[in-house]
Amino acid sequence: SDHQVSYKRVLLKISGEALMGDQGYGLHPPTVERIAQEVKSVHDMGVEIAMVIGGGNIFRGLQGSAQGMERTTADYMGMLATVMNALAMQSALETIGVFTRVISAIPMDQICEPYIRRRAVRHLEKGRVCIFAAGTGNPYFTTDTAATLRANEMSCEAIFKGTKVDGVYDADPMLDPTATRYDEVSYDDVLQKRLKVMDASAIALARDNSLPIIVFSLDEPGGFRTILEGKGTYTRVH
Ligand code: UDP
Repeated sequence: SDHQVSYKRVLLKISGEALMGDQGYGLHPPTVERIAQEVKSVHDMGVEIAMVIGGGNIFRGLQGSAQGMERTTADYMGMLATVMNALAMQSALETIGVFTRVISAIPMDQICEPYIRRRAVRHLEKGRVCIFAAGTGNPYFTTDTAATLRANEMSCEAIFKGTKVDGVYDADPMLDPTATRYDEVSYDDVLQKRLKVMDASAIALARDNSLPIIVFSLDEPGGFRTILEGKGTYTRVH
């Protein structure tokens, strides 16, 4: 597919697990550095980049509530986990010369900036990578919803969802060798067929604002840039 090949402003969404490498938990510094390089190579093209990173490598609300913790408290812990990931990514990006801001939905002034929409837009215009932390700031949401919300607020042209596989398949390609990849798929098909892209609220929010979601593999070295150049394989949800 050769849709839009020149982007001005995009949002990159990655899960927290993308930062843990082959470990079962936490942060794997070489992996964080590798992803930072991927971001830098797109930043070098002059593309403005917003980022949302999950927290699943450290804590998920559902995991806490399954262990008897109050759901909202567990969700706040999950949001705090995303702040740690954002700080790790900030550090890795600044080490290689990319200016960044961590912007949290929950104010924690000593650590990062509070979310003020116009200020965040200005940072993007100045070429700073904005890493949006603490999700939406609300329990019962996910960082996929946060990514869709921020991408809309920042007028990003698309969400780039970096995953372990190069797109959306009709079955789990890790388990089913006959699984086939969609070049493109509609939001409604994703919802009806329960395809694993992002959670339903995130898909609905993207659909209602005609925000395309591009699912691609982050394991492929140079993958993010290749996709931004309109090459490589990916799935476009629109
Ligand atoms: N979370 C939340 N509200 C938000 C975003 C995240 O409550 O707006 C919590 C929720 O508990 C979630 C955790 O933060 O499980 C980590 O985010 P997520 O599961 O989306 O991370 P990912 O799966 O992308 O690593």
